[in-house]
Order: sequence, then C-alpha cells, then structure tokens
Amino acid sequence: MSSKHEDGRNPGEKPRKAATILTHGGRRPADFHGFVNPPLVRASTVLFASADEMKHRRTSRYSYGLTNTPTIEAMNTAWSELEGAAATVLVPSGLAAVSLAILAGVSAGEEILVPDNVYGPTRRFCEGTLKRLGMGTTYYDPMDLSGLKEALKNGANAVFAEAPGSITFETPDLQEILNAARAAGAITMIDNTWATPLIYRPIAHGFDFSIQASTKYVGGHADLLLGSVSANERHAARLSRTHTELGIQAGPDEIYLAMRGMRTMKVRIEQHEKQALEVAHWLAGRPEVARVLHPALSSCPGHANWQRFFGRSTGLFAFELKGDEAAAERFLDGLRLFGLGYSWGGFESLASYGELSAARTVRPWPGGPVIRLHIGLEDVADQIADLEAAFAAIG
Ligand SMILES: *Cc1c(COP(=O)(O)O)cnc(C)c1O
Repeated sequence: MSSKHEDGRNPGEKPRKAATILTHGGRRPADFHGFVNPPLVRASTVLFASADEMKHRRTSRYSYGLTNTPTIEAMNTAWSELEGAAATVLVPSGLAAVSLAILAGVSAGEEILVPDNVYGPTRRFCEGTLKRLGMGTTYYDPMDLSGLKEALKNGANAVFAEAPGSITFETPDLQEILNAARAAGAITMIDNTWATPLIYRPIAHGFDFSIQASTKYVGGHADLLLGSVSANERHAARLSRTHTELGIQAGPDEIYLAMRGMRTMKVRIEQHEKQALEVAHWLAGRPEVARVLHPALSSCPGHANWQRFFGRSTGLFAFELKGDEAAAERFLDGLRLFGLGYSWGGFESLASYGELSAARTVRPWPGGPVIRLHIGLEDVADQIADLEAAFAAIG
C-alpha cells in the first residue's frame, strides 16, 4: 500500500472537492486501529503522564473534554476544510452558534446591523441579552442596502447577514454587503444554514464568521441539535477564546451523529433540491397560490442575487397563500404526509405557518399568509398529492 496522509490525502495534493471532504474529512483510521470512523469519546478528564505534562497542558492536543477530544477534532477538521476556514467551534445548537458569533464579534458600546428577515430567535437574542450587555442592534432592509450603508457610515461595528432570509427567502446582494462592511472596517458574519458550504462558502467570499445550524442538513435526521461557527485566519483566535470562556462545547453523541449525517449530506441535499423545485413549480401553477417564495424562481425577491451567488438550492422554501389566516390553518390541517413542526433539514416533509406580523420592523410584510415547506425525501408524487388534498380542504 502506498503511504498516505492520515485523513486519506496524499501530501502536497490540491484542495479536495466537497464530496471528498465530506467522505474523508476528519477521519484518521490509522490512529484508531484501522476503524473507518473516529471513536465516540465521552470525556471530561484527560490523564497526564507526568507533572511536567500536566503543567504544559495548554499546548497539548487534548487536556480537557471541554476543549478537545478525538470526536470534536474529527468534526472540526472536516468542517473547517469544507468551509475553507482557519478554525471551527461546535456548540449545542444553531442558536448558540448565532449568539456565540455575535458575542465573539461585538463588544459593549458597539452596534451590529441585522437583516429585517433574520431568523426570529436571532432577533430575540439581539433585543434581549445583547441589549442588556450594552450592544445595540439596527435592522436593515436586505433588499435595499442604503440603510445598511448609512449605519456603517455612522459607525456600526458589525454586520450580520442571512441568505436567503428566514420565512420569506429574499437573497440579498452579499457582495455589496461585504464591500460596504469592509470599507467601514466592520466585522462580518453570516447564518449560512440554508445554503451550507456546499452551495456558498462564506469564508472564501470574505465573511469573517460562517454560522451553521448543523441541526438541519448536517444532522439530516431530525434527531439532534448542534451548531458550528467557523472563522477566517484573522478572527479564529477570538472565536476560540470566546467559545472556551463561555464553556459551551457540544455533546459527544450529537457531534458523532452530525458527523455521520455529514457523510451523506451532499446526496441528500441534491435530492431535497430536485424534489423541492418540482413541488415549487407545481405550486406556481395553483390558483390558490399568490406567489412562490423559492429563491430559484423568478417570483422570489432577490432571484438575480440567488443566481449570482448560489445557483443551487435546498429543500426549504415558502409560498404566499391567497386568502386569510383561517384559510392557511385549514390548509395546514388538511395535510397528512407533511408534518406540522419547526426545524427542518431532516428526511421528512414539514409545513409551518410563517409568523410575520411582528417579525419585520423595517418593512412590514405586505402580503398574505405565508406557508413554509420543507420538502423531505418521500416520493414527490405523494408530496404533491398531499398538498393538493390540503388545498381542497381550504374549501
Ligand atoms: C434552525 C435555525 C437556526 C437555529 O438552529 P437550532 O439548532 O434549532 O437552534 C439558526 N438559523 C437558521 C437560519 C435556522 O433555520
């Protein structure tokens, strides 16, 4: 057998393609008796061989379960390679990844710019804990960046982005956001949960932090909560330090399950994408539907930005229903195959009502009720039949 680098790479090889990183990243079989997968290490204490080794623990690879184990290291190594990041840290949920990135990037007396269509709990964190700690939040219209630019001119310190936005799926001009932030010297971070680094690699494009709710497509089976934050070279040390100080390491079982999900993430997402597009186009032809909010369809605001930055999609989108909230409730109650529930990215189809009345403060939502769908891996004909029956149930 030829001599190979520990995680399947030959020394001096070119950067690997995403599918190869997903299958080989973080695996070092030679270190673990040849077993394909890294071990699930449950640990707090690490024993040192001597007093001297104990004294110098801060420079050792493993010193305490909170900072590193072979399980944590395997996931972080693979995810950093996929992101093109200098460092990745894991936390117990996607929301913890959002709050960690913000706490690592913003200080008391500073101000962060957040898009009006941000994930709801991110807004709640900004209005609650962040405000209490003395950090201000200004919301910007993601489809009209004049507000963002104005706030940067007035001294805002950080920019948070999310693309496409939660519930309504507008894709902003990410390059313009980055250019404006860079010109102002502001730190940049993006919640990249929808696209994943398979579709958009934030660090390579110039974002300082890339946030992933691994609960969704990385886990992929609706059975875990996990988040990650990756950083570029310049901000890696600050991210790692904040993570360590807060003591919010993820649990080993969740990391192990997420790593298992990661190996098949690309093929799953491609199937979700294909079926979601089929369902979205079918919905676009329905008389009950006012507008399909799928970034790959021209009916969705920011479609041109989606074409420019993403070009691919996943299984999550929404549509605006003709009619009122009661009609939306009858539609949801008419679904049998689609479950009514939050979160997404698992193998199963889900539907939820998009709560927008209190969720937009810069530009109130002018449209009708919005239904969000996650298109799972059931047969697409059965998915469409379920939606058809639910439309009939509106009456
Ligand atoms: C679900 C989600 C999160 C939070 O993830 P949890 O693991 O549920 O805390 C953050 N951002 C986006 C865009 C999400 O969809």
